[in-house]
Amino acid sequence: MPHPQLQAWLAQNRKLADQRQRRDPDFFSRQAEAHAPELLWIGCSDGRVSPDQLLNLPAGSVFVHRNIGNIFASNDLNCLAVLEYAVDVLKVPDIVVCGHHGCGGIRHALSSTGSAPVDLWTDQIRFAYELFHQYLDDINDFSHRCDRMSEINVRAQVYNISRSSIVRDAWKHGQPLAIHGLCYRIEEGRLFAVCESICDEASLQRQANASGS
Ligand SMILES: [Zn+2]
Repeated sequence: MPHPQLQAWLAQNRKLADQRQRRDPDFFSRQAEAHAPELLWIGCSDGRVSPDQLLNLPAGSVFVHRNIGNIFASNDLNCLAVLEYAVDVLKVPDIVVCGHHGCGGIRHALSSTGSAPVDLWTDQIRFAYELFHQYLDDINDFSHRCDRMSEINVRAQVYNISRSSIVRDAWKHGQPLAIHGLCYRIEEGRLFAVCESICDEASLQRQANASGS
């Protein structure tokens, strides 16, 4: 006998599947045919920032990778495999890094250090903080400083992805590929761009010059 909570979720799933099938009898057979997403989304694990809901795209449109603080870590096999699969196999033309205000991962990075897994993971946000703290130190309010850091962190991750050999090899072979940075204001339900999109070596160089790298 399934656990009561599991039974409740299964019942909700059956109801949703039945509703979809009644509205569109071919929906699930179309879904089963192929997976051809139009973008790779690298976002935070926070349950309030689900890409399908934020972008209002049809089911199956987004290839998703989520972790605490929407980080692309070049030493993380999971991040690398997702990027490689999205670019080389699915050939998505767009990659979106999306951070958000009120992010617990950012708050953690700016308020504690240690050797627990979450500390080690969010070290990567602290590295970005070290680089850009001059833009943050005059913000006294901690929540505002964290929100600004969320935007800076997105810029840093867009830059990290653009510098990867997976992306640069795709450009070298003429594959169209743009990397975009967005942030989400939860209290307004609005997405906004935080940096110039990077779509080739020239725009990568401009971003590098702008960040002083
Ligand atoms: Zn978050």
